[in-house]
Amino acid sequence: MTSAGPSVVIIGGGIAGLVCAARLGQLGINNVTVFDTGKNGPGGRCSSRSVNINGRIHIFDHSSQYFTVSDNRFAKIVSFLHSKQAIKIWKGDIGHLKKGKFEKDLTLTQAFVGTNGMNSVASSLASLINAKHNTWVSNVVWEDTSKKWKVDRYGYFDYLVIAHNGKCADKLMANAGVPAIHKLLQVRFSDKLNPKDQRMHLCSLWVLMVAFSRSLNLAYEGAHVDDRDISWIANNTAKLSETRSPQSPSNVECWTVISTKEFGSANKVPQENIPPNKAREVTNKMLTAFANVTGIKEGLPETCFTRVQLWGAAIPLNVTRGPDECEFDGIHNVGICGDWLVSPCIQGAAISGLSLAERIQKHAFKQGTLAQSTSLESAFRGTDMESIGCFPTDPKMIFNPPSK
Ligand SMILES: Cc1cc2nc3c(=O)[nH]c(=O)nc-3n(C[C@H](O)[C@H](O)[C@H](O)COP(=O)(O)OP(=O)(O)OC[C@H]3O[C@@H](n4cnc5c(N)ncnc54)[C@H](O)[C@@H]3O)c2cc1C
Repeated sequence: MTSAGPSVVIIGGGIAGLVCAARLGQLGINNVTVFDTGKNGPGGRCSSRSVNINGRIHIFDHSSQYFTVSDNRFAKIVSFLHSKQAIKIWKGDIGHLKKGKFEKDLTLTQAFVGTNGMNSVASSLASLINAKHNTWVSNVVWEDTSKKWKVDRYGYFDYLVIAHNGKCADKLMANAGVPAIHKLLQVRFSDKLNPKDQRMHLCSLWVLMVAFSRSLNLAYEGAHVDDRDISWIANNTAKLSETRSPQSPSNVECWTVISTKEFGSANKVPQENIPPNKAREVTNKMLTAFANVTGIKEGLPETCFTRVQLWGAAIPLNVTRGPDECEFDGIHNVGICGDWLVSPCIQGAAISGLSLAERIQKHAFKQGTLAQSTSLESAFRGTDMESIGCFPTDPKMIFNPPSK
């Protein structure tokens, strides 16, 4: 869709970038293009894998596992996603596994998941906007004379949104002509936060997708785990099916196992090119840890599928300190959004995207103080989180699905 309003390019089609684009559209800015590297579609760290096991397609959530709600603005998005049947409430038991004992998380009000894997969230948002996937943007430059951003071979845009982090964003913005924005994007990879180092810290996590030939008959469906090597396990088969029938033609049970950040650092390799012997080693270690924490002493059933993936830039250990939920430079028409500006979770990414869209709209139409730049100060604070991110809840905020 084109319009007479300003043109906006968003680099990164994770939740932050997709929400930013959708909100810009709601605010009357429709000339928005999102570029994302995802081969099969946008989504970034909110995506799933479909795998053919013995002739049947099984879905694994290989990044985000579930999300919670504690913010009214995000609650509206959740309500929209539910109306589009993109999400559902995860009704199975979720909790903590300590020394082989499962304790249900009693602080958890509601957990949401994609109806067809977490990808449903991203594809529902992407259906509202102009998103181009399988596209890597490697060069952007601010042109002072035209007051526009030149973006690779894709032309000129009035506003640039950086909706990704890690090495890519650091490199992309190093010579873009906006040093304050680049400073914010500089990154350190570590499993430990060094509060003296005022840079974004990102940890790495391994994910094991494993299918067993029969059900493990565990009483819970998802658990944060107290273990040296693994930090989370979830039964995708139970999570994603409304009802499980013992007569189901497939007895295969698909699990996601996520490492600790320490294990991520200790076993780091190039994520695009994992050596086969490292993949085998990581698979074996994570399966051993899985057997230990679940207490399946007699040994795990036969596996019919295993695959590992390394998220090199998995979870931010710190977030920006300032009051703003995004950063925006109103001189050079460039903004940044992402989980690391609010809270490392789906809600945090969505709020950051919303916030940046509102800034851009105010700036474009010269409305009030939000039209100005944010502090652009590179100052960070640690977050209190599980290995796989934050799960903020508010007991007063319960979503009641409308009756059909
Ligand atoms: C293993 C794992 C488990 C997690 N579990 C949970 C959970 O259970 N609950 C929860 O709430 N959160 C969880 N998180 C965190 C959650 O996934 C993130 O907070 C959220 O998805 C971040 O969204 P984002 O839009 O900020 O960034 P991203 O999802 O990282 O999106 C950035 C996008 O930009 C793209 N990109 C990068 N460079 C370029 C380029 N040059 N050109 C074009 N595109 C580019 C990337 O491919 C990516 O798609 C988990 C994360 C991981 C890794």
